[in-house]
Amino acid sequence: MKWQGRRGSSNVRTSSGGGKMLGGGIGGIIIAGILWLVFGVNPMTALQTGQVVAGGGSNTSTEPATSDDRDTRFVKVVLADTEEVWHQIFNEAGSTYKEPSLILFNGQVSSACGSASAATGPFYCPGDQTVYLDTSFFVEMRQNLGITGDEQGSGDSENQGKAGDFAQAYVISHEVGHHVQTLLGITQQVNEASRQVTRAQANKLSVLQELQADCFAGVWAQRNQERVQFLEAGDIDEAINAAGQIGDDRLARASGGAVVPDNFTHGTSQQRVQWFTRGLESGNIQSCDTFSGALSS
Ligand SMILES: [Zn+2]
Repeated sequence: MKWQGRRGSSNVRTSSGGGKMLGGGIGGIIIAGILWLVFGVNPMTALQTGQVVAGGGSNTSTEPATSDDRDTRFVKVVLADTEEVWHQIFNEAGSTYKEPSLILFNGQVSSACGSASAATGPFYCPGDQTVYLDTSFFVEMRQNLGITGDEQGSGDSENQGKAGDFAQAYVISHEVGHHVQTLLGITQQVNEASRQVTRAQANKLSVLQELQADCFAGVWAQRNQERVQFLEAGDIDEAINAAGQIGDDRLARASGGAVVPDNFTHGTSQQRVQWFTRGLESGNIQSCDTFSGALSS
């Protein structure tokens, strides 16, 4: 996936999670050691980067992009790509898109949906219209997708397309898909309907909501491809692989307390691939009616 040289979003902020910082303590040293072993990243560089992330309350657009680490810059570009595309789609429908925030956190974070840890996984909180990503997410994705080797060394490899990039972008755009559902009132409809049905039926609605977010991610990919031709050979297979293997995100619903991993599922891998592909081929959110009447009955 090509992502260098495009605008980065100013809606990305970082949160150190109350002192649990990458650069501090034994945990930081262990993480840095793992980075060094797995990716060939110099541990001292990793520790310094951790301190930059932990120390900054926010990374605003006024900072030069070079002050961010690679993952932060990547997230900013992907979020900006979603902003461009969703502004376009909402404008075409005579509506206005409201951009979400994205918080990159380290260790722990508190949201309008409650507090969360790295174990929660990526999630979107409708209460504060914010996507939450733990920084370890990128490391885990590289591991889950079996991506190693080509990141060894200190070469300028990030200027080329790198394996795993699009799978990461897919997850971010899935979370933004939940934001779109919130703007369209779908999230609220699902929540309301879920209160009036059995646990099993509510679970089914959750699955349909997840599949729609996958479809929206596909729509975004298609529209962004039209806009900037960012896809490279293998990217779609990569996302489809990711849809099956990860996507362990949480659409957080609770208010107060902690973001508790719910027992809903995301649907089968086949369903996820099917809906992502459907959005990708149509480039139109009208094709993403996973509910098809389930909410009105
Ligand atoms: Zn989701």
